[in-house]
Amino acid sequence: MKELWFDPSNCLIGGEWTPAAAGTLPLYDPSTGEEIGAIARGGASEVDAAVDAARRAFEGGWNRTPAAERGRILMRLGKLVEEAVDSLAMIEARDVGKPLKQARADAVALARYLEFYGGAADKLLGETIPYLDGYTVYTLREPHGVTGHIVPWNYPMQIIGRSVGAALAAGNACVLKPAEDACLTALAFADLAKAAGLPDGVLNVVPGLGAEAGAALSAHPGVNHLSFTGSVATGVAVQIAAAANVVPVTLELGGKSPQLVFGDADLETALPFLVNAGIQNAGQTCSASSRILVQASRYDEVLERMAERYAALRVGPAVRDLDVGPVISAKQQGLVNGWLERGADLEVAAQARLGDLPEGGYYVAPTLFSGAGGDHILAQSEIFGPVQVVIPFEDEEEAVALANGTDYGLVASVWSREGARQMRLARSLRAGQVFLNNYGAGGGVELPFGGIGKSGHGREKGFEALYGFTALKTVAAYHG
Ligand code: NAD
Repeated sequence: MKELWFDPSNCLIGGEWTPAAAGTLPLYDPSTGEEIGAIARGGASEVDAAVDAARRAFEGGWNRTPAAERGRILMRLGKLVEEAVDSLAMIEARDVGKPLKQARADAVALARYLEFYGGAADKLLGETIPYLDGYTVYTLREPHGVTGHIVPWNYPMQIIGRSVGAALAAGNACVLKPAEDACLTALAFADLAKAAGLPDGVLNVVPGLGAEAGAALSAHPGVNHLSFTGSVATGVAVQIAAAANVVPVTLELGGKSPQLVFGDADLETALPFLVNAGIQNAGQTCSASSRILVQASRYDEVLERMAERYAALRVGPAVRDLDVGPVISAKQQGLVNGWLERGADLEVAAQARLGDLPEGGYYVAPTLFSGAGGDHILAQSEIFGPVQVVIPFEDEEEAVALANGTDYGLVASVWSREGARQMRLARSLRAGQVFLNNYGAGGGVELPFGGIGKSGHGREKGFEALYGFTALKTVAAYHG
């Protein structure tokens, strides 16, 4: 791929580009299905070497590097990412199948994470605690040491920004395991980090299969904290492996996030959010809004207006930069098409047309379903494709019961002009983030993010992420 300025078939361990003992894995362009290169097939021995390198870097000086200096390095890295935004976007578009505009937004977000966490590094304060006479008690926020980061393929740059960016700012040394389907921007990021002056070994990257490199990292006794984003089943496996070493884990596992549209909603403002939050990144978004709950009085109108938007969606190769690209892989395409078949008993309110597309690409037709009850399998399961269901409700009580009626709890939004209702629902909705008359708040690197229930636990983004990447130490001094 001509945009790459580095050889992607290596791991980065201790500052050295290192081939994996098991060789390489093929890399495919989701827009065409063509093989476009190879990445390292890292495994247990590369993970061992990376954890060792991180430990040496941490104890060899990174743990004594002043917070302001760590912050400066991250801000320099943010600038380098900013300068490379166009090439990073092109690399991501080819690797992940994301329309260029969306890939570009991810690169811009990565730069912003680095700016935010670079600036925050020296503002991570402890407290003094009033205690008994003759004592001074204070807390220190110390890095865990070596942190492991297992990243999925849907938003590699954003997830690296919020996870690795925060961990480095807090003073940890990192081992990053990107997804086998999408690791090019992780390698590009690591190369830019070297150029920004991040000491060798502070950031190590081991691409490879989940069952090999991912499993080795989650079970590694030399790792002090793990951050995982991906499926519930893999999250559970990571947590079980980490539990054997009593290692804390942050899990971000996706959702079935609802938007609640009440009769008094400002529909003109709501409509783009209702659809975009379902089809962005071909629906492969942990916070995708896959359930649209609409008060019966406006149900027909909302369904019709959403259907118009679906009919106008343009699907095509990432580099054509249309509304929806392919999904990540042939496997994901099969999964999403399987979900569409499970909707055979529902009405297809609208389906985008798949026109003239490259034959081998992994395209699925964005589909809007109606006629489902809240307990239908399509209203309960994370589909991870451009598929939404629209469900009517009568009143606020029913809306809350539907919204809270899945195993997940990541994001929810309320469209209503009534202030008291907004406040009531902000409290009663089971979700890590609630949006009032918007959805997603533009990503918001400052805004703590994470789930409850099967959406996971722990918080990323904002200052909360920094707290998660530190261990709190209490110091009690008796001086009489
Ligand atoms: P996954 O959860 O298996 O993969 C996510 C990451 O975990 C990848 O880096 C992968 O290599 C790694 N991994 C896989 N098995 C592992 C193991 N045993 N130990 C440690 N790490 C391991 O997800 P997937 O198979 O790529 O996708 C399957 C489904 O997961 C999707 O259809 C979607 O529903 C969901 N998903 C959710 C998110 C999210 O952001 N919440 C992201 C990706 C996928």
